Amino acid sequence: MVCLGCGALTGRDVEYLNPGCSEITVEEAPDGDAELSPALDFRVPPCQRCGGVLKPDVVFFGDNVPAARLQRAWELFDAGERLLVLGSSLTVFSGYRFVRRAAERGVPVLILNQGPTRGDAHAAWLGSAPLAAALPALAAALTPHATQARGRLS
Ligand SMILES: [Zn+2]
Repeated sequence: MVCLGCGALTGRDVEYLNPGCSEITVEEAPDGDAELSPALDFRVPPCQRCGGVLKPDVVFFGDNVPAARLQRAWELFDAGERLLVLGSSLTVFSGYRFVRRAAERGVPVLILNQGPTRGDAHAAWLGSAPLAAALPALAAALTPHATQARGRLS
């Protein structure tokens, strides 16, 4: 969680304000939203440093990617030999711009998503599978000693 007031980062400990909340059944939606059952009169904890409002430390639709995070992403992009896109339609430009730059530079683009993406025309490899099922195999394939599995993604 990040504080909107002072920028402090903190964990997601909400149990102390919401006893029993960890035992609530949560049905997660593909977009990261969740339906709680039963509905909960949920109390969001304040920032421990300044009392400000906390939000998940993620970039929501319409938000800007923090400059330092974007800079780090470009550094990783520049150091890499391939671009791997996982679970994104690339509809939002913040992700699609990496595919565009890869295409401009001749960097192979690998896309694993359920359904078509905006970057499909630039992909050297396309896969369609639920990430929860595919990521363990992909991680094994990208692990240096897993040469047999790596061959399946080349
Ligand atoms: Zn704060």
